[in-house]
Amino acid sequence: MSQNQNIVWPCSSCGQMNRIKLDRWTQHPKCGRCHEQLETAAPLAVDTKAFYNIISQSALPVLVDFWAPWCGPCRMIAPVLEQMAKEFDGKLLILKLNTDQEPHVSSQFRITGIPTMIMFKGGQESTRQSGAMPGPMMKQWIQQAL
Ligand SMILES: [Zn+2]
Repeated sequence: MSQNQNIVWPCSSCGQMNRIKLDRWTQHPKCGRCHEQLETAAPLAVDTKAFYNIISQSALPVLVDFWAPWCGPCRMIAPVLEQMAKEFDGKLLILKLNTDQEPHVSSQFRITGIPTMIMFKGGQESTRQSGAMPGPMMKQWIQQAL
Protein backbone atom coordinates (compact mmCIF):
# COMPACT_ATOMS: atom_id res chain seq x y z
CA MET A 1 0.00 0.00 0.00
CA SER A 2 1.46 3.33 -1.01
CA GLN A 3 1.73 6.32 1.29
CA ASN A 4 0.58 8.54 -1.55
CA GLN A 5 -1.64 11.35 -0.31
CA ASN A 6 -2.61 12.70 -3.70
CA ILE A 7 -5.24 12.06 -6.30
CA VAL A 8 -4.48 12.24 -10.00
CA TRP A 9 -7.48 13.46 -11.95
CA PRO A 10 -7.97 14.93 -15.42
CA CYS A 11 -9.74 18.20 -16.13
CA SER A 12 -12.90 17.64 -18.16
CA SER A 13 -12.42 21.00 -19.91
CA CYS A 14 -8.81 20.88 -21.09
CA GLY A 15 -7.68 17.31 -20.38
CA GLN A 16 -4.81 18.35 -18.09
CA MET A 17 -3.88 15.70 -15.51
CA ASN A 18 -3.98 17.37 -12.10
CA ARG A 19 -2.36 16.15 -8.90
CA ILE A 20 -4.59 17.14 -6.01
CA LYS A 21 -3.80 16.71 -2.32
CA LEU A 22 -6.24 14.33 -0.64
CA ASP A 23 -7.35 16.89 1.95
CA ARG A 24 -8.18 19.36 -0.84
CA TRP A 25 -10.17 16.86 -2.86
CA THR A 26 -13.62 17.69 -1.50
CA GLN A 27 -12.97 21.45 -1.47
CA HIS A 28 -13.76 22.02 -5.14
CA PRO A 29 -10.22 21.92 -6.53
CA LYS A 30 -9.51 23.71 -9.80
CA CYS A 31 -7.50 22.70 -12.82
CA GLY A 32 -3.90 23.96 -12.66
CA ARG A 33 -3.94 24.87 -16.35
CA CYS A 34 -7.36 26.31 -17.25
CA HIS A 35 -8.66 26.97 -13.70
CA GLU A 36 -12.01 25.29 -14.34
CA GLN A 37 -13.42 23.46 -11.33
CA LEU A 38 -12.67 19.73 -11.50
CA GLU A 39 -15.61 17.31 -11.52
CA THR A 40 -14.77 15.27 -8.46
CA ALA A 41 -18.14 13.72 -7.61
CA ALA A 42 -19.05 12.10 -10.93
CA PRO A 43 -17.95 8.92 -12.71
CA LEU A 44 -15.09 9.64 -15.10
CA ALA A 45 -14.75 8.02 -18.53
CA VAL A 46 -11.12 6.96 -18.98
CA ASP A 47 -8.89 5.57 -21.70
CA THR A 48 -6.15 3.04 -20.96
CA LYS A 49 -3.51 5.65 -20.12
CA ALA A 50 -5.73 7.61 -17.72
CA PHE A 51 -6.91 4.35 -16.13
CA TYR A 52 -3.37 3.28 -15.18
CA ASN A 53 -2.40 6.81 -14.16
CA ILE A 54 -5.32 7.17 -11.78
CA ILE A 55 -5.39 3.70 -10.20
CA SER A 56 -1.62 3.65 -9.63
CA GLN A 57 -1.25 7.16 -8.22
CA SER A 58 -4.42 7.93 -6.28
CA ALA A 59 -4.69 7.72 -2.51
CA LEU A 60 -8.39 6.82 -2.56
CA PRO A 61 -9.82 3.42 -3.56
CA VAL A 62 -10.91 3.40 -7.20
CA LEU A 63 -14.01 1.61 -8.47
CA VAL A 64 -13.79 0.84 -12.18
CA ASP A 65 -16.92 0.03 -14.15
CA PHE A 66 -16.04 -2.09 -17.19
CA TRP A 67 -18.89 -1.48 -19.61
CA ALA A 68 -19.90 -1.08 -23.26
CA PRO A 69 -22.56 1.07 -24.95
CA TRP A 70 -24.49 -1.94 -26.35
CA CYS A 71 -24.86 -3.55 -22.91
CA GLY A 72 -28.34 -2.97 -21.45
CA PRO A 73 -27.46 -3.78 -17.81
CA CYS A 74 -24.47 -1.40 -18.11
CA ARG A 75 -26.80 1.43 -19.09
CA MET A 76 -29.10 0.48 -16.20
CA ILE A 77 -26.39 0.92 -13.58
CA ALA A 78 -25.03 4.16 -15.05
CA PRO A 79 -27.35 6.36 -12.94
CA VAL A 80 -26.63 4.21 -9.88
CA LEU A 81 -22.91 4.88 -10.34
CA GLU A 82 -23.59 8.60 -10.67
CA GLN A 83 -25.45 8.47 -7.37
CA MET A 84 -22.62 6.49 -5.73
CA ALA A 85 -20.05 9.04 -6.93
CA LYS A 86 -21.98 11.72 -5.05
CA GLU A 87 -22.60 9.63 -1.92
CA PHE A 88 -18.99 8.48 -1.64
CA ASP A 89 -17.37 11.77 -2.67
CA GLY A 90 -14.04 12.02 -0.84
CA LYS A 91 -13.93 8.28 -0.08
CA LEU A 92 -13.95 6.70 -3.50
CA LEU A 93 -13.18 7.48 -7.14
CA ILE A 94 -15.34 5.99 -9.89
CA LEU A 95 -14.03 5.37 -13.39
CA LYS A 96 -15.82 4.02 -16.46
CA LEU A 97 -13.81 2.03 -18.95
CA ASN A 98 -15.37 1.20 -22.32
CA THR A 99 -14.29 -2.41 -23.01
CA ASP A 100 -14.86 -2.02 -26.75
CA GLN A 101 -12.52 0.97 -26.98
CA GLU A 102 -9.92 -0.31 -24.50
CA PRO A 103 -9.72 -4.09 -25.06
CA HIS A 104 -6.15 -4.30 -23.75
CA VAL A 105 -7.21 -3.42 -20.20
CA SER A 106 -10.22 -5.75 -20.29
CA SER A 107 -8.08 -8.68 -21.33
CA GLN A 108 -5.42 -7.89 -18.74
CA PHE A 109 -8.06 -8.05 -16.02
CA ARG A 110 -9.76 -11.04 -17.66
CA ILE A 111 -13.14 -9.34 -18.00
CA THR A 112 -15.44 -12.07 -19.33
CA GLY A 113 -18.81 -10.35 -18.89
CA ILE A 114 -20.03 -6.83 -18.42
CA PRO A 115 -20.82 -4.92 -16.41
CA THR A 116 -17.92 -5.90 -14.14
CA MET A 117 -16.88 -3.62 -11.32
CA ILE A 118 -13.39 -3.89 -9.86
CA MET A 119 -12.24 -2.09 -6.72
CA PHE A 120 -8.57 -1.07 -6.77
CA LYS A 121 -6.56 -0.13 -3.69
CA GLY A 122 -3.00 1.08 -3.99
CA GLY A 123 -3.10 0.18 -7.68
CA GLN A 124 -4.04 -3.46 -6.99
CA GLU A 125 -7.35 -5.23 -7.49
CA SER A 126 -8.98 -5.79 -4.11
CA THR A 127 -12.36 -7.21 -5.09
CA ARG A 128 -14.73 -7.44 -8.05
CA GLN A 129 -18.41 -7.92 -8.79
CA SER A 130 -20.00 -8.97 -12.07
CA GLY A 131 -23.52 -8.12 -13.16
CA ALA A 132 -25.84 -5.21 -12.54
CA MET A 133 -26.94 -4.38 -9.00
CA PRO A 134 -29.76 -2.17 -7.80
CA GLY A 135 -28.72 0.96 -5.88
CA PRO A 136 -29.02 -0.34 -2.30
CA MET A 137 -27.05 -3.50 -3.15
CA MET A 138 -24.36 -1.51 -4.91
CA LYS A 139 -24.05 0.79 -1.92
CA GLN A 140 -23.70 -2.16 0.45
CA TRP A 141 -21.08 -3.77 -1.77
CA ILE A 142 -19.07 -0.54 -1.91
CA GLN A 143 -19.26 -0.07 1.85
CA GLN A 144 -17.95 -3.58 2.40
CA ALA A 145 -15.25 -3.15 -0.23
CA LEU A 146 -13.91 0.17 1.08
ZN1 LIG B 1 -8.30 22.36 -17.31
